[in-house]
Amino acid sequence: MTQIAKDLAKPLTIFRECRAIRLNWNAHSKKWSVDTESNSTFSCSVLILSAPAPQNVELLEKSNLLEGSDLLSTLRNIQYRPQIVALGILYTPETALWTSTPQEPFELLIDQKMKGLQTSEGYFAAYLDETWSRKYFDSPDPEVSQLIQELLEYRYGIHPQHIQVKRWRYSQCKNPLKETYLKPSALPLYLIGDAFAQGGLIGALKSACSLVQSLKRD
Ligand SMILES: Cc1cc2nc3c(=O)[nH]c(=O)nc-3n(C[C@H](O)[C@H](O)[C@H](O)COP(=O)(O)OP(=O)(O)OC[C@H]3O[C@@H](n4cnc5c(N)ncnc54)[C@H](O)[C@@H]3O)c2cc1C
Repeated sequence: MTQIAKDLAKPLTIFRECRAIRLNWNAHSKKWSVDTESNSTFSCSVLILSAPAPQNVELLEKSNLLEGSDLLSTLRNIQYRPQIVALGILYTPETALWTSTPQEPFELLIDQKMKGLQTSEGYFAAYLDETWSRKYFDSPDPEVSQLIQELLEYRYGIHPQHIQVKRWRYSQCKNPLKETYLKPSALPLYLIGDAFAQGGLIGALKSACSLVQSLKRD
């Protein structure tokens, strides 16, 4: 999945591991400055926030922007679900496992070959449901890994040779807005992402495309 984003990003300059912590609008120069955790500052004339809504709210609050506005309350009401996923390898994968209805607390079991991955080994992904993911989200990897191995054995009788635990705090938006993006004030500030256009990956794409079209028109 990441290959699509990597290809799209080829002509761009991307600053990784670079967390924005404060936004400042300079009314005189009509420019934004964005301060980061590593003490660098970026300057721009149009600012587009594309982080998950709770992280955008945190950034706007720290920057004293949109204080007391209805829009900030709307953004605060947008909820995300966390998700824990175990990636593993099976020597003897059984097709029945991947096509059966997942048993709680598993939400989805996927044989990576079904996605077209060419491999002789049985790479799989086991998605844990929201309740379980929430409960163990902040537990250490070895504990979560051990619990998932026990669950896989108990539910399906399988013993993966190795599993890797992955976690996303803002995995999917639960109540996205219908709007494709927001422009919360007269300032050149926009919000896009999977909190818009009905959510999910398609929502995030629609949201970005819709804003680009609108900016090109103006
Ligand atoms: C395991 C899993 C399975 C999924 N399955 C599906 C599926 O089957 N179908 C589907 O439609 N969707 C699925 N999704 C959801 C989909 O991946 C997301 O909806 C989509 O990636 C959101 O894109 P986005 O650009 O809005 O946000 P993101 O991809 O979350 O990007 C936001 C970016 O903002 C950055 N950021 C946050 N705060 C700051 C800050 N302060 N400073 C700088 N950067 C910051 C983050 O690091 C991140 O890179 C799944 C998600 C997960 C985790």
